[in-house]
Amino acid sequence: MKTGQINVQTENIFPIIKKFLYSDHEIFLRELVSNAVDASQKLKFLSSNGEFKGELGDLRVEVILDKEAKTLTIRDHGIGMTEEEIDKYINQIAFSGAEEFVNKYKGQEGAEQIIGHFGLGFYSAFMVAERVQIQTLSRIEGAQAVQWESNGSPEFTLTDIEKTTRGTDIILFINEDALEFNDKNRIQGILDKYCKFLPIPVIFGTKTEYIDSPEGEKDEDDKIKRVAVEVPNQVNNPKPAWTIAPADLKEEDYQSFYRELYPTTFEAPLFNIHLNVDFPFNLTGILYFPKIKENVEIQRNKINLYSNQVFITDSVEEIVPEFLTLLHGVLDSPDIPLNVSRSYLQSDGNVKKISAHITKKVADKLAEMFKKDRKDFEEKWNDLTIFVQYGMLSDEKFSEKAKGFALVKDTDGHHYTMEEYLEKIAVLQTNKDEEKIILYTNDPEAQFTYVKQAKDRGYNVLQLEGPLTSHWIQKMEQLNEKTRFSRVDADSLDKLIHKGEEIPSKLSKEEEDQLKPLFENVINKDKFTVQIESMPENEAPIIITQPEFIRRMMEQQRMGGGGFYGAFPEMYQLVVNGNHPAIGKMLKLTEEPQNLYAKQLIDLAMLSQGMLKGENLNVFIQRTLSNLTES
Ligand code: ADP
Ligand code: MG
Repeated sequence: MKTGQINVQTENIFPIIKKFLYSDHEIFLRELVSNAVDASQKLKFLSSNGEFKGELGDLRVEVILDKEAKTLTIRDHGIGMTEEEIDKYINQIAFSGAEEFVNKYKGQEGAEQIIGHFGLGFYSAFMVAERVQIQTLSRIEGAQAVQWESNGSPEFTLTDIEKTTRGTDIILFINEDALEFNDKNRIQGILDKYCKFLPIPVIFGTKTEYIDSPEGEKDEDDKIKRVAVEVPNQVNNPKPAWTIAPADLKEEDYQSFYRELYPTTFEAPLFNIHLNVDFPFNLTGILYFPKIKENVEIQRNKINLYSNQVFITDSVEEIVPEFLTLLHGVLDSPDIPLNVSRSYLQSDGNVKKISAHITKKVADKLAEMFKKDRKDFEEKWNDLTIFVQYGMLSDEKFSEKAKGFALVKDTDGHHYTMEEYLEKIAVLQTNKDEEKIILYTNDPEAQFTYVKQAKDRGYNVLQLEGPLTSHWIQKMEQLNEKTRFSRVDADSLDKLIHKGEEIPSKLSKEEEDQLKPLFENVINKDKFTVQIESMPENEAPIIITQPEFIRRMMEQQRMGGGGFYGAFPEMYQLVVNGNHPAIGKMLKLTEEPQNLYAKQLIDLAMLSQGMLKGENLNVFIQRTLSNLTES
């Protein structure tokens, strides 16, 4: 037996490791299992290039929990270590670097994740163990098996031992204050999180499976009996879809990989992008487009970041542009510096390139789908709208590309690109100032009357829904000169698309002056202004409108942007169609029935705008009923 001192410059590094890494003790298992996987892969490599001539055998990695003894063992059958190698790789650790490391990153968010990159991976075992043993037999023929042991002080012992199987056991004697790790479920949970896609099979105990009876036993119904068997509990899928060449994968492989990633998500994704770059940086992965619901927040942050199949994090905000965090899936890159600090990551050249690359790939994929099968693309458009609008609003490069495939849908269900649409409406919907006016509704049911009137005049109405609509409209107005969007109920149609020709009024000036106060007397003047107009007589006698800009401001406030709240009180216009026969009739009545008449007309307008509710609705119903019984 030999004793020695681990080559550390700091008096005792372990208390520092422990304290420093306090927030995330569980990563010790990721470090040890990935070391075991590394050792197994190295052996595979040596075998393939002829340096290792023995049998590879079964290279599985095993994680063994002994609750009684309070030990956790990580066992591999990889390259193993000779005494010299232990000395070199374990004892002579670059703790000069470690001290620097601690000083540099102390207190920084995510710093625990770079531990592996400083050769401290193995020592993270001391976060949870009072004592650690390495029992190892090297791949080299005739090697002597050795055991290294340390209790977390810089002293260690090195002993020759009997070990006949090649590879390494790392044995942790779990510390009293870390007994949470002496628990099967806890260990299983950590393995599921970090080791799910490691490239070498990782086994943790056994699990029960039900199979057809091997003896062919039958039950009462003469069916083959199902019997329980204990099988090795393999934690991981060593060949996840993103590591396989796209040509070797079918659509259902992508679908089943999605379910593997998100076992609790029922909705299937729309489609995916398989990323595969090796120059000028390394990046593989599969991104899925989910069906994005109104509530985008629950969809967000589902992309998992891996480095060589080791799980790193599921918060990728700094690596991909914000709008892409709506996607799901996996990114794997050894070139992304592990989450050092947010500002550092954002300025990292590789991260920028990767982010630009992903944005481009996503835009190209959408463009390709649009070109290849427009009908199919249109069918998916409903679920893509928020994503594409979000992308266009937040990323100029994406916006530039998206112009070619971003669609609008009209109330008849036809889809157009903006370019196509502007051409379609050019003749009828250009006003006297040469502006193209795009009419839209965000609720065809509620705004039915308005939509119908516009369509009766031959105008087209778009159906624009979703939380980003008002922002997106603004963006479209900036991108397309002399184009304005107006919701159908923003004003009377003649005002919305002002052609410069007036419809003659049937009312005299006196009659018009007489009319206005009749309505003003029966409505809330803080909320409504009255306006008399001459519209076609077959259109509604009264419409209630809300100026486009006021509504947009209010909508954007509701979305959480802008600080104008209060500056924009809820305001509506009551637009009276002086040419409607009902108005002519009303003018001829005496005062009392005139009042009643005005109220009735206003309520009808409110009703068609969906604004008549509660007590007001009841008053309207009572009034109508008593009218019916009287006459
Ligand atoms: P890193 O993995 O970043 O090199 P670690 O502290 O995790 O740093 O491991 C240090 C070194 O110890 C490894 O590079 C490897 O040479 C050796 N080592 C650790 N675990 C094993 C193992 N299970 N089998 C063989 N060698 C190992
Ligand atoms: Mg390591």
